[in-house]
Amino acid sequence: MTEFESLVAVVTGGASGIGLATANLLSSRGATVVALDLNPDVKDPLVGIRADVSDDDSVKAAIDEVVQRFGRLDVVVNNAGIGAQGDVTANTDAEWSKVLDVNVLGMVRVSRAALPHLRKSPSAAIVNTCSIAAWAGLPQRALYSASKGAVYSLTLAMAADHVREGIRVNAVAPGTADTPWVGRLLDSAPDPAAERAALEARQPHGRLVSADEVAGAIAYLASPLSGSTAGTILAVDGGMYGLRLRPK
Ligand code: NAD
Repeated sequence: MTEFESLVAVVTGGASGIGLATANLLSSRGATVVALDLNPDVKDPLVGIRADVSDDDSVKAAIDEVVQRFGRLDVVVNNAGIGAQGDVTANTDAEWSKVLDVNVLGMVRVSRAALPHLRKSPSAAIVNTCSIAAWAGLPQRALYSASKGAVYSLTLAMAADHVREGIRVNAVAPGTADTPWVGRLLDSAPDPAAERAALEARQPHGRLVSADEVAGAIAYLASPLSGSTAGTILAVDGGMYGLRLRPK
């Protein structure tokens, strides 16, 4: 299948986890894919460009480079993000600023730089990586949840603003996904294997979400197969949201 034949896609955070799985999937379906990442170490045919989504000049230069090298830009996957733990007292103002800057403003900066190019595409789509943390009321995730809540609202606002100019904006909301990020969190636990087993047992379908499953949802929302879908937040969480289950 070649839904993305002749299209150019950028994936922020495209060198690891969900972003890398997405970059590989879009590439296998015909796209030229550029991973924008702090550490853009990706294998051919993916192209890596260093970019820091918390730095507007870096983002502008990276998007300019993509369009200069490949002549167009059709798909943006706003996926780069960082985590934070603890209740509302746990993080300093500087930490709040940093996480909101990367997770929310990062998407704003990339979208702002990309929109003039997306307007020229017959197949323009933006997909943001949200999280079930946006609405699930996860304990000990105040800052992270607030950042993803903002991503949720931003996605709806962007969808409303751009759907009439042919640019569809949607988001995926993964549950706990098996990525290097979650691997690092598990490794820091006293008993990583026991922690993993407990985490798996908490998921409705008894296992972590795979990065490839999230990538599949992103690819769908980025492709013409979802040509009439905008302003949708697609949960990829083993059914937690759809079944209205509480995180255990
Ligand atoms: P990951 O840590 O494996 O990958 C994140 C990538 O983003 C890394 O390559 C990192 O270098 C890059 N990155 C970080 N800060 C950046 C910046 N300022 N500029 C450019 N690149 C930057 O993480 P992941 O688990 O694949 O998470 C990807 C996205 O999915 C994040 O937005 C995260 O919030 C979201 N998410 C993850 C899970 C999960 O359980 N893993 C669940 C829900 C949502």
